[in-house]
Amino acid sequence: MDLKQHIRPVPDFPKTGILFYDITTLLRDPQGFKMTVDLLSTPYAGLGIDVVVGIESRGFILGAAVAQRIGAGFIPIRKPGKLPAKAIKETYDLEYGKDALEIHADAVERGQRVLIVDDVLATGGTAAAATQLVRKLGGELHGLAFLIELLALKGKAKLSGENVYTVLQF
Ligand code: AMP
Repeated sequence: MDLKQHIRPVPDFPKTGILFYDITTLLRDPQGFKMTVDLLSTPYAGLGIDVVVGIESRGFILGAAVAQRIGAGFIPIRKPGKLPAKAIKETYDLEYGKDALEIHADAVERGQRVLIVDDVLATGGTAAAATQLVRKLGGELHGLAFLIELLALKGKAKLSGENVYTVLQF
């Protein structure tokens, strides 16, 4: 099965000039969803990952499925103001704008082995902010896994020194 065939490129969303990689067309396909989770999880099985941190919002879907598969817990990183309890914040640059992310201040325990999961690695700003949040809480970051890497945006450069895995490259 060719996963790339199930991803829908949408031009000019959410802004003119952005080619948005829509994974809803992949997730709705039972085999496609399963294969996606298989490919994202396999490298991390048996490594003693304690928690998967998923980035809002498509990182929740993929991250939760990966966490279940590898026997880890799941922690959400959310847009500001969404988490109910005390949270810490990190601001960052996005491919299309500027934003911030938050994590519950008590979400990661010191020394826990953490895997960060998201759908797309674009400029890497979002993921870099997520690594900061995890490390601020004392998490031991094992690595980051993405379904899609947009090679032209060189997101891996922003994550130098990190263990980065991407399933599909565009
Ligand atoms: P970045 O911080 O530039 O690496 O952007 C990554 C975040 O924005 C991820 O959470 C993606 O879901 C989203 N994103 C950025 N660019 C795209 C794109 N071209 N298609 C789909 N999602 C994107």
